[in-house]
Amino acid sequence: MAIHGGAGNFTLDDIKDRQDAMRAGLTEALMAGHRVLAAGGTALDAVQAAVVILEDHPEFNAGKGAVFTNAGTNELDSSIMDGQTMTAGAVAGVKHIKNPIRLARLVMEKSPHVLMTGEGAEAFAKEVGGIEFVPESYFRTELRWQQLQRAIAAEKAKQGAALVPHGDDPGGGYFGTVGAVALDRAGNLAAATSTGGLTNKRWGRVGDSPIIGAGTYASNRSCGVSATGTGEYFIRYTVARDICARVEYTSVSAQDAADEVIQKVLTEAGGDGGVIGLDRYGRPLMSFNTTGMNRGYVGPDGNAVVMFTTQDAVPLPR
Ligand code: ASP
Repeated sequence: MAIHGGAGNFTLDDIKDRQDAMRAGLTEALMAGHRVLAAGGTALDAVQAAVVILEDHPEFNAGKGAVFTNAGTNELDSSIMDGQTMTAGAVAGVKHIKNPIRLARLVMEKSPHVLMTGEGAEAFAKEVGGIEFVPESYFRTELRWQQLQRAIAAEKAKQGAALVPHGDDPGGGYFGTVGAVALDRAGNLAAATSTGGLTNKRWGRVGDSPIIGAGTYASNRSCGVSATGTGEYFIRYTVARDICARVEYTSVSAQDAADEVIQKVLTEAGGDGGVIGLDRYGRPLMSFNTTGMNRGYVGPDGNAVVMFTTQDAVPLPR
């Protein structure tokens, strides 16, 4: 299984105060997914278990730690895809759902649809049941509030910047979205992604995270991918699907396909961010064009490996 906790331009030094908390969260998420898989559970349950932990963790820009919109609200996006059946579920712009990934899973399994938004998605959650609602105040964390204040100040200082998407820290450009990809014993891949989007977003903006093929994709024929970065670019270049399509249609490895799309296509287009994933044999892929991407993987041996930037990168198992 592989996971991420967001990409951005940061160094180990920039995150030194947050690194231990992030390492603990990423390790806990990896081990939660690993336990599901080791017990013979499904890839879908494994990615959901991992993402729920990261959604509940205040360090990450998903669930509890979601960033703020320009209006001072939190609007959450999430998606999940089953690589065996090619079914998928997603929600966008939900404001009262503690774990949006659980609702995305319900959209996949209990409705004929793929993507539901805002009030409609929340009405569906009430109707189906089993989803925890929280007041909007649940999502308020001081770190994210201050990031919004800095983004608004930076925007005022720079005329026209309202139309430029912000990372969640104008200084560090750290995004913080979370995602997971797992391969189970039956050989099925699943991918999941969850986010609060971009700090200071407005007008009902939705990024790539709930868009199947952009921020999330899984197919047993090729690979599973979860993305993080400037969502607009990931949507336009259908990044997750492009990586898996290259694997399916050509003899390229999943890692090389990810590098082609992130280091060439996305970079030349001007997008920032990265992806994690697995090929259909369970080999991890990781690629990012920022200096950092919080990420990790765990194999059948149960040894979790967590990395943050290019500085602490170790070779992936092959
Ligand atoms: N990709 C997310 C979005 O654009 C942001 C992120 O990765 O942190 O909404």
